[in-house]
Amino acid sequence: QAKLAGKNRYHCFDTEHDRSARGRHASLERIRHALANNEFVLYYQPKVNMRTGVVVGAEALIRWQHPEQGLLPPNVFLPVIEDHPLGVELGEWVIDTALRQIAAWHASGLNLAVSVNIGARQLQQSDFVERLRALLHAHPHVKPSRLGLEVLESSAFEDLSCISTVIAACRALGVHVDLDDFGTGYSSLTYLKRLPVNALKIDQSFVRDMLDDPEDLAIVESVLGLAAAFRRQAIAEGVETCEHGLRLLQLGCKLAQGYGIARPMPAAALPEWSASWQPDPSWMAQPPLSRE
Ligand code: C2E
Ligand code: MG
Ligand code: MG
Ligand code: MG
Repeated sequence: QAKLAGKNRYHCFDTEHDRSARGRHASLERIRHALANNEFVLYYQPKVNMRTGVVVGAEALIRWQHPEQGLLPPNVFLPVIEDHPLGVELGEWVIDTALRQIAAWHASGLNLAVSVNIGARQLQQSDFVERLRALLHAHPHVKPSRLGLEVLESSAFEDLSCISTVIAACRALGVHVDLDDFGTGYSSLTYLKRLPVNALKIDQSFVRDMLDDPEDLAIVESVLGLAAAFRRQAIAEGVETCEHGLRLLQLGCKLAQGYGIARPMPAAALPEWSASWQPDPSWMAQPPLSRE
């Protein structure tokens, strides 16, 4: 009797488990097929200096050009693979594609730095640095300093000493490393001290609301203060309007990215965009702060 109940229970669990496992398996297979079939594409969002008008680089953002569903954003497919070896494979494709793009732009006279987003799992692969080195070697015409890695602030607290060692090794290769979505994770000052990053990317949620919400403004100001104290650069994400840019410049933040400057665009559109982009005249009129 007990055996039967046990068996039934097991069977019941097994059926449910099987169903979700099968769903996941199907999604993984679709993503694997998409990768083999070249359906992934990188879009590029410019990063600019709002005061000088210089386009300092671009962030590569992955999209899935799905044959039936159109252009899919990363939140639709990345969560499915983030804990799977396929996530690491796709991550390598991203770095390789970005390096290829840097080389292609360079050959056409456009010297842009490109940063790619690195998932926490990918960064914690024991051979991440070796693979990065191999990818850089495969693109000998690309200066490593043209490549940047964006690491989520929240990946740091999984294993601080491991992450800081990996970041230091990437920096030793010449690659830049920035902390993404800064302010949304839990960064004690000790963390920041131990993470040898180039820049803090102020999360877009704070930037977007800082004009109306004094607390968000306080967070933006604090991150800028931290960046200055630790001699790191600061870059604001989510600059949607001219007023955002102006306020940031008044606070001493000149590097920015956001829909108000440019939306992520296909690689082919970026040369023309960067040749014609001009900062808002009100931005250029802002006197520099001593912090700059
Ligand atoms: P993220 O790295 O923080 O990238 C910024 C996201 O905000 C992008 O969304 C971008 O399109 C969007 N964005 C930029 N400016 C504005 C703005 O002014 N307003 C608003 N509302 N949004 C803005 P996207 O492309 O959907 O990417 C979402 C997240 O997916 C990224 O956040 C990043 O964490 C992740 N991701 C994207 N590409 C990759 C990738 O190749 N690998 C990995 N591991 N993660 C990626
Ligand atoms: Mg990013
Ligand atoms: Mg971000
Ligand atoms: Mg984000």
